[in-house]
Amino acid sequence: MPVLDEKLQVIYEEVLRRNQGETEFHQSVHEVLDSLGPVVAKHPQYADAAIIQRLCEPERQIIFRVPWTDDSGGVQINRGFRVEFNSALGPYKGGLRFHPSVYLGIVKFLGFEQIFKNALTGMPIGGGKGGSDFDPKGRSEGEVMRFCQSFMTELYRHLGEHTDVPAGDIGVGGREIGYLFGQYKRITNRYESGVLTGKGLTWGGSQVRTEATGYGAVHFVEAMLATRGEDFDGKQVVVSGSGNVAMYAIEKVHQLGGTVVACSDSTGQVVDEKGIDLALLKEVKEAQRGRIADYAAARGAGAALVTSGSIWQVPCDIALPCATQNELDAADAASLVRNGCAIVAEGANMPTTPAAVKLLVDAGRLFAPGKAANAGGVATSALEMQQNASRDSWSFEHTEVRLATIMRAIHDRCLETAEEYGAPGSYLAGANIAGFTKVADAMLALGLV
Ligand code: GLU
Repeated sequence: MPVLDEKLQVIYEEVLRRNQGETEFHQSVHEVLDSLGPVVAKHPQYADAAIIQRLCEPERQIIFRVPWTDDSGGVQINRGFRVEFNSALGPYKGGLRFHPSVYLGIVKFLGFEQIFKNALTGMPIGGGKGGSDFDPKGRSEGEVMRFCQSFMTELYRHLGEHTDVPAGDIGVGGREIGYLFGQYKRITNRYESGVLTGKGLTWGGSQVRTEATGYGAVHFVEAMLATRGEDFDGKQVVVSGSGNVAMYAIEKVHQLGGTVVACSDSTGQVVDEKGIDLALLKEVKEAQRGRIADYAAARGAGAALVTSGSIWQVPCDIALPCATQNELDAADAASLVRNGCAIVAEGANMPTTPAAVKLLVDAGRLFAPGKAANAGGVATSALEMQQNASRDSWSFEHTEVRLATIMRAIHDRCLETAEEYGAPGSYLAGANIAGFTKVADAMLALGLV
């Protein structure tokens, strides 16, 4: 990775030394610090108060044992995490990820990103993240429920609607949030709706929360296109992944007149020139919990399943990586550039490697980082908290207008900030600097805590 400005490089090396082996966390810190040169030059008060060093050190990190019994009566042990990163702007807020790859470095990268993402939404939420190395794939309903109950039996003592408010992420959807909320309610004897977001619509959830991350990313791209006097009409789009973010990104692209010609999961990608059939994809992935190969088989002629190479070799105007971290590397970025892709916007968290970002930016392509483009999910979580606090529930239409307005505001804020700090047109610099300065100013105001 390129060397940073002198003072920032010293801070980064200290982060490497104090957090050994946490490569994803290092990457996310580097990406932010890389944008902060002009900020520290302009605002010496941040350095005087060691704001960056404090930001890189989570306020609290919780690691715990999660014991549970599988269907055959065997004892299973997983590891649970909650990293409460920064509460300068509000209660810690961020999802829980259940995936076998989860370890402290992943939770910390996600929590670190979340601080700035949440700041960008303009809502009063701090940053945190959690999860477990539990793999829900292939587990029965009963096993998932028992795992969630055991996880919450430890985590509940650290949560609260004014303290720490988890939601979903990879491997944690409405089903898991339900089991987690049920156990929290049972242990605390409180119907504290605002303690978790992503709840079901009949028990405190918000309209549009399920759709929000994918819809929001597409609204963000709509705003990017508008700066060039363009829109989605007739555009070819590739969306990686086929989970919650991908599905609703596909839905919104289709509503706006674009065509999503490919999506994927960890077993391969499906290329569907007529446009992904979303109803079928939802049936396969959500109802049957099946794989992309099942979609291709059910779709029949016209849809091709590809199990080699990369989804980014499929020609498109717009690429939306919506699967997972570091899924789009420099070779993929080169394919996208070669095929004329004009915009890459991250629906997932940190899906584009630093080398790929550089390649795209050097080639003059528009790049929107996840902390801006995928902020619609957590923004709508904050709207859910707002409805819970006022014991209200808003219509789908009203909530969607709020989401679209928030995404447009984030887009504009990124561009204005990039301009102000001498990096016109850079969504990456704009997002990092706007998120950072908001949190940094709050930290200064709150004193050395
Ligand atoms: N996991 C989502 C994210 O990466 C949502 C977090 C939330 O709603 O708290 O932003």
